[in-house]
Amino acid sequence: AKRDPGTSYRFYDHQLHVSVGHQLRLEADLRSALRGRELELYYQPRIDLATEEVRGVECLLRWQHPTRGLVGPDEFIPAAERSGLIVPIGYWVIEQACKRLKECQDMGFPGLVFAVNLSFRQFHDRKMTETIFRIIFNANIDTSLLELELTESAMMHDPDYAQRCLRELNQLGISFALDDFGTGFSSLSNLQHLPISLVKIDKSFVQALGESADAEHIIRAIISLAHSLQMSVVAEGVETEGQLEFLRQQHCDEIQGFYYARPMAWEDLVQFLNRRNQSACLQN
Ligand code: C2E
Ligand code: MG
Ligand code: MG
Ligand code: MG
Repeated sequence: AKRDPGTSYRFYDHQLHVSVGHQLRLEADLRSALRGRELELYYQPRIDLATEEVRGVECLLRWQHPTRGLVGPDEFIPAAERSGLIVPIGYWVIEQACKRLKECQDMGFPGLVFAVNLSFRQFHDRKMTETIFRIIFNANIDTSLLELELTESAMMHDPDYAQRCLRELNQLGISFALDDFGTGFSSLSNLQHLPISLVKIDKSFVQALGESADAEHIIRAIISLAHSLQMSVVAEGVETEGQLEFLRQQHCDEIQGFYYARPMAWEDLVQFLNRRNQSACLQN
């Protein structure tokens, strides 16, 4: 029989079709999720190690999928980045975070910092600074309570652009945190001219404590370098008492992790804050 050159092509095409189809469906679903209010923010408290007070919360995106249930960001942020949908989604996140920040102020939890993650693509959106300006202006919030988390790669891709944007937003009162820090550690000093007030140690280092002496050394070095540059340090992914004790001894400023609290829905955060307020009142 004559070989049909189309067969293998068709097979290949079918495979391609499946993955492109999957990607397109995910994108279409995400687009309707954004319209249909299926996206939701969860909030994870950050605790000050010296005072044990809740200093702030990190806003973490979730997708309340009609059939799949609660979907985490690692499963859809990459597709949102590729398609560019992360830009409108990211602005929705900032808007929602500002709305909750305002509610917190009105409910009598003043001074709570709301941290929002900014992706690479969103940070490089041409309209970023003016859009953020419009959002915070409409939300009528204390801008010093809004913090944006960026990774080193987002800032180092175009340092001049990063410097301009960070300065403009910083002049409005917004502060910046360096997320997932640790891997490109030597460049912390390269970033010192940027208005970054906080460094978040990546959870992989925290979780390697007790198993690797390197993790201890790296964490010590990050904390001392950050402090010498007048930056505060948050350790992410703290799950155990042992990790907490080590970080306390190293004068880490704040911790975030399952040990204190998991990311939670808004209603649960309000309860969490109320409970902590009550027990603080009883102690005083
Ligand atoms: P991230 O910004 O580094 O956020 C911290 C992640 O660590 C969160 O995962 C949080 O749930 C998790 N985590 C906190 N404490 C612990 C712990 O003790 N143990 C463990 N194993 N994990 C802990 P999540 O919520 O799945 O988010 C993953 C990533 O997705 C975030 O990492 C961030 O890069 C991205 N992301 C989340 N929300 C947004 C968003 O609104 N916009 C953008 N662009 N990215 C987002
Ligand atoms: Mg983050
Ligand atoms: Mg992180
Ligand atoms: Mg991360």
